[in-house]
Amino acid sequence: MDLQRSDVVVIGAGTVGSMALWQLSKREGLEVVGIEQFGRVHSHGSYAGESRVFRTAVHEGATYVRMIQRSRELWRELERESGRSIYAEVGCLSIAPEGFPDLETALGTVREFDLPHRMLSTEELRREYPQHTIFDGDVGLLDAHGGGLRPEVAVMSALDLAEANGAQLFFNTPVLGIEERSDGIVVRTTQGSWLADRVLLASGSWSTRLSPELNELLRLQVLGLTWFMPKRPEMFVPERFPAFLRDLGPVHFFGAPSFDGYAFKACTNPEWPVLRDVDEVPAAHTRAELIKIGQRAAELFEGVNPEPVRESVHHCAYTPDRLPVVDRSDSGRLVTIAGLSGHGFKFSPQLGEWAAQLLAGEESTVDPRFALAAHLERLAALGPYRGGGH
Ligand SMILES: Cc1cc2nc3c(=O)[nH]c(=O)nc-3n(C[C@H](O)[C@H](O)[C@H](O)COP(=O)(O)OP(=O)(O)OC[C@H]3O[C@@H](n4cnc5c(N)ncnc54)[C@H](O)[C@@H]3O)c2cc1C
Repeated sequence: MDLQRSDVVVIGAGTVGSMALWQLSKREGLEVVGIEQFGRVHSHGSYAGESRVFRTAVHEGATYVRMIQRSRELWRELERESGRSIYAEVGCLSIAPEGFPDLETALGTVREFDLPHRMLSTEELRREYPQHTIFDGDVGLLDAHGGGLRPEVAVMSALDLAEANGAQLFFNTPVLGIEERSDGIVVRTTQGSWLADRVLLASGSWSTRLSPELNELLRLQVLGLTWFMPKRPEMFVPERFPAFLRDLGPVHFFGAPSFDGYAFKACTNPEWPVLRDVDEVPAAHTRAELIKIGQRAAELFEGVNPEPVRESVHHCAYTPDRLPVVDRSDSGRLVTIAGLSGHGFKFSPQLGEWAAQLLAGEESTVDPRFALAAHLERLAALGPYRGGGH
């Protein structure tokens, strides 16, 4: 078998892969190759769909807050280096009935970490955010460092920068298998094979196909997106309409301002089944689901046409407790990052930085709970897979 050689091969040029390639390409003298099964920035991965919510007031506590704060710096760095607009820091507004548990936890986080925020009363919400239908008893938490990320632009920018720094990228090249040997890892693709000193597995929802070790841990969750046309689109532009999370009883909506000028994103998810393989993901919402989502959107937002003007269905690999997998094999040659569990886009620059540090044999601050062995130890004690996103 004819083998091409490289110091590092990154499998998957999606969210984590692009961020890792960008970081790896900054290291002098390191030969870096990225291999992607589809084209450069495609619509099949977990990053597709125009926007992602960025928020610092997360429920999950200290580890996430630090990852998100570091990522915020790296998002700005990516914008500076690429000259592109990626992170609209327009705030993230959570609206829920006073005392709603998730809102209380988010409030606890902003207070504990002294994150810039503002609480809004029912009256203030009605006055300042007339785009939302505010019900009696609703209150708001505006996370000032929150906002909307533009995922396709982010992935494109990171890949372009990696390539400009000397990384070699191969598209439309599915990886068929990986095999560890004493002298490196063989990465077999449809277009030939590489022998790499070290490999990053960043293949998202497809990870279990290449790493059977992840089979027990990862499940796929389906996540749908919908966009609606308001009567007054000028009220939904980023300057006036923050990214949002809304809770009303069991109904949870999330979304982002209008980046296209005519529609804004507002989504809620039906009870999708938990799946094992990308091939099982439905291609679209059913008509009944779209009617129901549209009726709810019309109740929660002012002057909104209940027929979604755009819709798409995606997938993401989840761990049961939604902590990501960040693991280095005993040999030190294989780093795996997976299971971003519907909320990992916002902190993907930190994951890319960690990947580069682990692959370059440098110090890193990865939380030990993210190691695969730690996940598998917790697995038995955890309940069923929880959905949810952002
Ligand atoms: C609808 C939706 C909404 C979300 N909302 C938010 C949000 O608001 N905020 C937030 O922070 N997060 C959000 N997330 C989560 C976040 O977007 C994902 O967790 C993240 O994009 C996953 O990144 P990844 O690198 O693991 O996978 P991907 O970005 O999918 O990258 C994997 C890449 O590997 C490639 N690949 C796979 N197998 C192979 C192979 N054999 N050979 C070569 N290439 C391969 C794939 O083609 C793909 O390009 C959301 C996710 C979804 C689906």
